[in-house]
Amino acid sequence: MSARPRARLLRVLRIEPRTPQMRRIVLGGDDLAGFPIGSEGAHIKLLFPAKPGETPALPVFGEHGPAWPDGAAKPVVRTYTVAKIDDDGLTIDIVLHGDEGPASRWAANARVGDPLGVAGPGGPELFRAEASRHVLIGDPSSYALICAVIERLPERASIDALLEAPDAAEIQALPDRPGLRARWFSREGEPAGASRRLLEAVRELPWPQREAVSVTLAGESAQVVAIRDFLARERGVPRSMMYAVPYWKDRWDEDRYHDERHRIMDAFDAEAEQGVSA
Ligand SMILES: Cc1cc2nc3c(=O)[nH]c(=O)nc-3n(C[C@H](O)[C@H](O)[C@H](O)COP(=O)(O)OP(=O)(O)OC[C@H]3O[C@@H](n4cnc5c(N)ncnc54)[C@H](O)[C@@H]3O)c2cc1C
Repeated sequence: MSARPRARLLRVLRIEPRTPQMRRIVLGGDDLAGFPIGSEGAHIKLLFPAKPGETPALPVFGEHGPAWPDGAAKPVVRTYTVAKIDDDGLTIDIVLHGDEGPASRWAANARVGDPLGVAGPGGPELFRAEASRHVLIGDPSSYALICAVIERLPERASIDALLEAPDAAEIQALPDRPGLRARWFSREGEPAGASRRLLEAVRELPWPQREAVSVTLAGESAQVVAIRDFLARERGVPRSMMYAVPYWKDRWDEDRYHDERHRIMDAFDAEAEQGVSA
């Protein structure tokens, strides 16, 4: 049986700029002890204080979910990805998309020593290892996920990775390995929710009829939904072969978008059960 989740209070050990709009933050401290090794790509919740440098209140997880200390200000909670976990610490790649997002603002202003709450890791299966072919689709918010999947796939795997960046400066190297065909697309300023570049690239991918294909898809909501529906309906990819998670929604903050994300995912599961998309 899996242990009840717990929240940890960690501190920023290192900060590395990856691109103009991405910061790699490495967290550590005594409370990191026991964090599951090998959980790269898993979901984590980050608990942000009102201002960098302040200590966020942490929940205690009981039978009825998280309980917060009496009178404490509840931190802003956002979902991120384990980019790496090893003796150096817990690494997270955070997109800096402006000051109106509390997580992005915290990451842009963070300094070594700042506290941050972390709960998890958890989340669904990221890919189906038994497939011979893997299609990975994402953007900078899912860069850590896609790198983790590339690193974890079996040696013989044939992989297509398609990623979209807001502009050319945000394009980053992916892990180098045989069998990987990687392509980046630049939106050149177009709003993410309106871009059809990834959908078009997915449409053009040759799709063998008799091969089991595993799809790992995450990024902006409108794009994820359009690509997921295309793959289910036009390419016959069953729900069980897809990790398809909308990570963020253009012009919606996470507090407003959270429930909508779960509605989108539940509706897809329900359709698959009725045999519509599988
Ligand atoms: C399972 C999961 C894993 C994730 N892993 C990562 C990760 O490893 N790294 C990462 O950077 N993000 C990741 N995300 C996405 C991240 O949770 C969202 O981007 C979140 O909205 C950021 O919170 P915020 O407080 O900065 O902005 P919010 O307050 O949620 O939003 C403020 C504004 O910023 C816009 N916005 C939000 N995210 C982005 C973005 N990525 N690009 C451009 N505009 C944006 C919103 O549309 C809104 O207009 C993940 C999401 C999920 C569900």
